[in-house]
Amino acid sequence: MPTTKETILEINLSHLEHNYNYLKALIKPETKFLGVVKAFAYGSDAVKVAIKLESLGIDYFAVAYTSEGVMLREAGIETPILVLHPQAVNFDLLTLHHLEPNLYSFRILKKFLDHAKQHRLKKYPIHLKFNTGLNRLGFAKEDITAIVKSITNRNEINVVSLLSHLAATEDVNEKEFTQSQIESFTKITNEFELIHGNVVLKHLLNTSGILNYSEAQFDMVRSGIGIYGFGNDAKFDKALKPIASLKTIISQLHTIKPGESVGYNRAYKAKKMQVTATLPLGHADGIGRHFGNGAGYVTIHGHKAEIVGNVCMDMIMVDVTGIECKEGDEVIIFGELNTAEMLAASSNTISYELLTGISQRVKRYFID
Ligand SMILES: *Cc1c(COP(=O)(O)O)cnc(C)c1O
Repeated sequence: MPTTKETILEINLSHLEHNYNYLKALIKPETKFLGVVKAFAYGSDAVKVAIKLESLGIDYFAVAYTSEGVMLREAGIETPILVLHPQAVNFDLLTLHHLEPNLYSFRILKKFLDHAKQHRLKKYPIHLKFNTGLNRLGFAKEDITAIVKSITNRNEINVVSLLSHLAATEDVNEKEFTQSQIESFTKITNEFELIHGNVVLKHLLNTSGILNYSEAQFDMVRSGIGIYGFGNDAKFDKALKPIASLKTIISQLHTIKPGESVGYNRAYKAKKMQVTATLPLGHADGIGRHFGNGAGYVTIHGHKAEIVGNVCMDMIMVDVTGIECKEGDEVIIFGELNTAEMLAASSNTISYELLTGISQRVKRYFID
């Protein structure tokens, strides 16, 4: 591994393999595994991650939007790709790249049926999403009869799967609610298959669902954060390995006298002699302003260094008073020990937001 010379996001693809194998071992061998690679594979690199997972034999991918699926197809990914939140304006691109739409309302279902007819598609794979309590996307249980009616004898499409999404799989206080969502999904899928007359794939669980409710795995599970190394729980975090480490270097050291200030709006004022290090990354790289003014921290030679003052667009300043370090030394923003989850928690956010926010300006560097 070369020494860090600028801000990089180091992505460890063998950790990805470890996490994938760990999660797969928690479900039955015949249960399919869908890797969620939306938002640049949670801020890492969707193409590299998908190529690795495809080589490991993953069954399905999911992205949020059509453009994300197009990017994977253009990189040569052949595994089925579910588009979780498609918009009708992109249906030409979607079917051109053989991406599979998740249809969640009568409006989008009708638009896709019209598109399929117009383009004379044959048995084009579609997925139907039901709302079981998240109240985000999805048909209602009461819609089943009307859905089946609208797709009967429509040979241009083929329902591949039914899905729903759980609201609080990581929250032990919401076990009862999660159970009610699982029950509701079971009823919906039974009724749908009965009226539709065909058996289809059924899937419900996200990462924390796999970890806490594996009995509800149905025919497929969908994991995002888990394959990237987080389990929304200290116990599972220990078994998983974060794939991404954000590293940088010290650009410059400053000695600050009592009463002097650091950064914009003079947000930090020194009470004693202090040393600060200026680092080449800021809110434009994904370290938001909420990490400023002592909330967030970085690690330098194993020591915690708090972010002082306001986060700038391209820089942060950290307090290195008492830490032996020099300009050019490596700085870990988050990694295997001081994880993205821990840094996120310091500033009232979650690993998902911190990871997906690392901007495309930060160079990705891969280890396998
Ligand atoms: C993002 C997403 C997932 C992945 O959730 P994780 O908690 O990251 O495993 C699964 N299903 C749907 C519908 C999603 O939008």
